[in-house]
This record gives sequence, C-alpha cells and structure tokens, in this order.
Amino acid sequence: PVDQMPPDPSKKTLVVLGSGWGAVSLLKKLDTENYNVAVVSPRNFFLFTPLLPSCTTGTIEHRSIMEPLRHILRHKKASVAFYEAECTDIDPVKRTITMRDNSEVKGDIAETTLPFDYLVIGVGAQNTTFGIPGVEENACFLKEIQDAQKIRTRIMDCIETATFKDQSEEERKRLLHMVVVGGGPTGVEFAGELQDFFEEDLRKWVPEIENDFHVSLVEALPNVLPMFSKELINYTEKTFKDEKIDIHTKTMVKKVTDKSIFAEVVKPDGSKEMVEMPYGLLVWATGNMPRDVVRNLMKKIPEQATSRRGLEVNEYLVVKGTEGIWAVGDCSVTKYAPTAQVATQEGAYLARLFNTMAKTQSLEEEVEYLEQLANGATAPEDKKTVSSEIEVKAKALRRTKRLMPFQYTHQGSLAYIGSDRAIADLSWGEGNNMSSSGQLTYLFWRSAYVSMVFSTRNKMLVIMDWLKVKMFGRDVSRE
Ligand code: FAD
Ligand code: NAD
Repeated sequence: PVDQMPPDPSKKTLVVLGSGWGAVSLLKKLDTENYNVAVVSPRNFFLFTPLLPSCTTGTIEHRSIMEPLRHILRHKKASVAFYEAECTDIDPVKRTITMRDNSEVKGDIAETTLPFDYLVIGVGAQNTTFGIPGVEENACFLKEIQDAQKIRTRIMDCIETATFKDQSEEERKRLLHMVVVGGGPTGVEFAGELQDFFEEDLRKWVPEIENDFHVSLVEALPNVLPMFSKELINYTEKTFKDEKIDIHTKTMVKKVTDKSIFAEVVKPDGSKEMVEMPYGLLVWATGNMPRDVVRNLMKKIPEQATSRRGLEVNEYLVVKGTEGIWAVGDCSVTKYAPTAQVATQEGAYLARLFNTMAKTQSLEEEVEYLEQLANGATAPEDKKTVSSEIEVKAKALRRTKRLMPFQYTHQGSLAYIGSDRAIADLSWGEGNNMSSSGQLTYLFWRSAYVSMVFSTRNKMLVIMDWLKVKMFGRDVSRE
C-alpha cells in the first residue's frame, strides 16, 4: 500500500497531529510532493463543529458533518500516510512522536514511534472542568460526535423515565430540568437547539411533559456571550426570556452530584448565596484546557514553563523553545480566541510557509548549481548568461524568503440562539463592523455554514436534514 512505502530519503518528513480545523486547513493547501507527509489522529474524519449543537437534537444527523479524511487526502498530488492513533508523547530532542492505536480492534502492535523533521501540532483542546467535584462523572460535554450522540440519547432517556408510571411529581420535575453550564457560544447554541426541540416536536409527541420540561442556562459572569456586542447580548437574553429559557447569570457552579448542581449566586446587594438546582440532564460547556500530550510537552520545554492555557508560539507559529515544531488552533496560545476561524487561517498560513520553504530549498540548490557552472565556464558569453540567470534566481530566492508573520483577519462571529433566530457581529475591510440579529440573520447563518461545509455531499446532506425536519419533525426515538 502507498502509505506503507518507505519515505523518500531526499525529502524531509512532516508529521501533522490532528484532523480538525487547523490540521485539515494545512493539509488542503500543502504541496504534499515536497515532503514525506504523515497525519496522526484518533479520528479518521474532520468534524464540522459549528453544526455540532444541532446534532444533539437530531436537527442534523451526525454523518452529515463528518468528512472522511481519506477523501481529503486522496485529492493530494503526492500520497499522504494516515495513522488512526492518539499521539501520547512528543520528544522534541529525539524528534519522534509516540502514537497508540486506541481502537477496539487489536492488531500485532498498538504503540509505536514515528520520527519527524518537522512537526505540526493541531490536537485541539479538551473540556475544562476547573477540577469542580462531580463534573467529570456526571456531566455531558459537547466537543466530539459521540458527545452529541450521548446528549441526544440522554434527553429522550430523561423524558421516558419522567413519564414512567407512578413517578413522583418532584422526580418528574427534576428529570425534565435540562441544565446547561457555561454561557459561551457552545452553551447558548445548545440551549437554543434544545428549546426548539421541545417547542417544535416534544410538546407534540409527548404532551405529558408540556408543563414540566424546562431549560436553564447557568453563567458565572454578569452576562452570556461576552465576545459579542452589548446589543446582541441583550437580544439573546430577551429571546431566551421570551422562549422561557431561564438564564442564571452571576451564578458559579461549585459542586455537582448525580442529581443536583450547587452554585454560588451573587445577589444584587453583593452578598453570596449557595443554591441547589436538581437536574435530569447536565451539559457542561465552560471552555477549553490543554490536552495531556500538550501539557507533557510543555513540561519538557523551559520556555513553556509559565504557560497555562496551551503552547506558546511566536509570530510564525513556531512553538517557543523548539525548532521545527509548530502549533495551530486550540492547542496553542495566541492573542486570538480559540475558534475554527483562527485555526483555519493558521493552518493555511503554515501551508504557505511549508510550500515556501520547499521552494526556497530548490532555488538554493539551483543557485548553487549555476554558481558551479559559472566557475567552470571559460567562454565570457557563457559566464555572462549563467551570471544573469543566477541574478534572476537569487531575486526569486530573496522574494520567497521574505515570509510575513501570521496575521489573523477577523470576519466576524455568528451564533444560532434558537427559535429561528441568529446573531452576527460581522467585520470587513479596515474597521468596518456590523451587528445583526433575528430571522434574516438566521438565513444568513444557514447559508454561511452550508457554504463552509467542505464537500458537496455533506452540503446536500445538511440541506436535506433541514428539509426533513421542516417536513416531518425530529425523530424522538431513543438510540
Ligand atoms: P479540533 O478541530 O478540535 O481538532 C483537533 C484534532 O486533533 C481532532 O481531529 C482530534 O481527534 C485530534 N486529536 C486529539 N487528541 C489527539 C492526540 N493526542 N494526537 C493526535 N490527534 C489528536 N468556532 C468557530 O469559529 N465558529 C463556530 O461556529 C464554532 N462552533 C463550535 C461549536 C462547538 C459545539 C464547539 C465545541 C466548538 C465550536 N467552535 C467554533 C470552536 C472550534 O470548533 C475550535 O476552535 C476548532 O475546532 C479548533 O480547531 P483545532 O484544529 O485546533 O482543533
Ligand atoms: P467559552 O470559554 O467561550 O465560555 C465558557 C463560559 O463558561 C464562560 O462564559 C465562563 O464564564 C463560564 N463558566 C466557567 N466556569 C463556570 C462555572 N463554574 N459556573 C458557571 N459558568 C462558568 O466556552 P465555549 O462556549 O465552549 O467556547 C469555546 C471556544 O469555542 C470559544 O472561543 C468560542 O468562541 C468558540 N465557539 C464559537 C462558536 C460560534 O462562533 N458560534 C460556537 C461554539 C464555540
């Protein structure tokens, strides 16, 4: 098989960790014929995360937002090796990574190493719990496809158990209380999708729950969505109020048990009170923290000692304190927010950087060869021709070497907030900004995301899922 062929010794080996926004954006634009490229990721697909909240209620089916990595790699000029494995260790001195095949199907070997000349780390981040007791054991998260599937099952499980014969009133209310912790975009989008599910389908198919089904959003800060403009924050909070989603701001969760969350509420007079909120479903969306493999690497590099949130990189995205190791997306720390937009632009920048590096190397070799020719030439006309050719190549070399540092262009933030409404803070050109909200913005949200989905196949699947839900409603069977 192609990916088992020995690497070409004349080329450098570039190892890419991850198959998310950063890594895939790099792979799409990389001229793979210049390197021996190997990709290592525990999932063999790319996940279109902006539509993940829609999978929790079946508005979108999960396969519609998964793009097989093999499809993306097959279109490259030179073959790329792919290993479905988790990178468990990075050795920046020996220049190797260790990878482990975590799948249930076992072969002869489950762990091995891979040497690299260049390494790009794009492993994303994991959910943070801030070490709050009980979160890890009792909450659902929303980052991967399995998380969305688990939530979808859990919603229906809560409903079926709540309607079980002779269930007590109090227990019924608890089971139908859906609590979302974290008022960032993940929490807000999920709460909106869940309320839509209730209003458009559950109310009709399970009328017994109508009076008790209830979504609450809990946020430690004074308002939700701190990254959006004040106007859009107010619009979201009003929409949630109209939709009967309870927003509990200035409420910081301190402890979680299997049936309740315990939170400290800051009251208007500044005093604090501990409250208990019983729940049936708890979705935890309080942001990111570094993965273990990243934390372990940080411990090996003195320049990373003070960093807490991820790998510190310089303006060329090189991991500080290393050579030939770059980081993109949520595993790195920059002045930008950890978003798909940033990761995509960083990946594309690195592709340009690697393409330029390869071009530089080949130009340098050409100049060296021409210089030898010039030294060996005896006829003055030959010497003159070669010298002018050297001048042309040297000029091109100087141009390619002048690579600018990474610069991010913010195109805006978009979020779905339920009841066919979305919010958008858009930016274009120099300092042009616009905020918009409502149903037209929702249509814009839909068309923007469909246009961003990579393949025509998945674009069609997403549109068909939306049409299916419009015509027949969402599926309420429990998987
Ligand atoms: P990811 O996309 O998370 O990819 C990480 C990759 O690394 C994955 O393939 C993973 O399998 C792999 N990996 C993990 N561990 C290892 C390991 N040990 N070894 C090798 N590979 C590993 N951003 C926006 O800009 N707009 C949005 O609308 C938006 N919506 C979002 C909705 C949700 C529900 C979530 C959770 C996030 C959303 N984001 C959005 C944020 C966005 O998804 C992230 O910023 C983006 O995914 C970061 O890209 P990344 O490549 O760094 O990481
Ligand atoms: P986030 O970091 O944006 O928000 C987490 C929220 O949880 C914060 O507001 C924080 O105050 C709150 N919180 C933390 N601890 C708490 C506690 N104990 N009790 C109550 N509240 C607590 O996290 P996210 O929403 O998962 O987003 C992660 C990243 O992904 C962000 O950069 C975000 O912009 C991006 N994202 C973007 C979109 C979009 O653009 N539509 C959607 C999802 C995620």
